Amino acid sequence: MDAWKVELAEAFTDPKRLLSFLEIDPDGALADDAALNFPVRVTRSFAGRMRKGDGLDPLLRQVLPASDELLAAPGFATDPVGDRNAAARRGLLHKYTGRVLLVTTGACAVNCRYCFRRGFPYQDQQLTRSAEPTVLAYIAGDESIEEVILSGGDPLLLGDRRIGRLVASLAQIRHLSRIRIHSRVPVVLPSRITDALVTAFAGTRLDPVMVIHANHPNECDRSVGEALERLRRAGVTLLNQAVLLRGVNDDAATLAALSERFFGAGVLPYYLHLLDRALGTAHFEVSEPRALTLHEQLRRRLPGYLVPRLVREEAGQPYKTLL
Ligand SMILES: *Cc1c(COP(=O)(O)O)cnc(C)c1O
Ligand code: SF4
Repeated sequence: MDAWKVELAEAFTDPKRLLSFLEIDPDGALADDAALNFPVRVTRSFAGRMRKGDGLDPLLRQVLPASDELLAAPGFATDPVGDRNAAARRGLLHKYTGRVLLVTTGACAVNCRYCFRRGFPYQDQQLTRSAEPTVLAYIAGDESIEEVILSGGDPLLLGDRRIGRLVASLAQIRHLSRIRIHSRVPVVLPSRITDALVTAFAGTRLDPVMVIHANHPNECDRSVGEALERLRRAGVTLLNQAVLLRGVNDDAATLAALSERFFGAGVLPYYLHLLDRALGTAHFEVSEPRALTLHEQLRRRLPGYLVPRLVREEAGQPYKTLL
């Protein structure tokens, strides 16, 4: 078996084990009921970057179930960004001009507690193998589509062969020029970025873009830097999108360090998202006035190219709303 599959199989799924690995007393820190709604999953690699003995570690906070998830909050719902209305075919969301997004799988290497798709009906909506021909025909039949986004869940949990076949089929569609991958895998499971995987993207006529998803500078370590370097050498344009999260990255120094650290690994900041209001995530929300203040502070301290665009996704809008 590939090393990354072994690592995935060894991920923490029991929060008690994760806390014991981190030498944190589980009393009071655990919220088993919350874990029932949305299972815990944390790779060893990601857990290895958390500080031992620190129950407030910003990486831990992103993945540890909290009792706050069970509180009802007005405005927080299961389909916060209108994805169900945007499904043009099974597994295909067509919201914006020129781009379609494929929901390739419901699986992720790490389950993020703030996830906007934590209530997404993957069983009925993910792109199964049998649904692929319909989706490819849809894309082939609409010449306005120039870019296909592989999303999920996490598309890089698909096997190399499935990804290779999908990319090859897309490359045959003449009006496509770019392929984009949205993935947290380079950060949470860097061993997945194998030469075979990189070859699938490097060998296509489509221009490859990868939007990684990192929220805190501590998420970047040497193994992540090496995975990103492999992608970069293969000609993949690397961008980062982060979510503004209370108790994780809601201060200007952390956000500046996030941009700087990942720029050092060849990644440009793309979006800083306000939280999508998915059920169970209200305790992560940062208010819009506070977000604007933080963004203003970032602009004061960083060169323009290291300042991400502050956006919010609003159902029914033709693009992400710039704040
Ligand atoms: C966010 C998103 C995109 C990509 O939007 P960009 O502004 O190009 O990054 C495309 N399709 C869907 C359904 C999205 O949610
Ligand atoms: S990796 Fe992305 S899709 Fe998966 S749980 Fe985290 S935020 Fe959600």
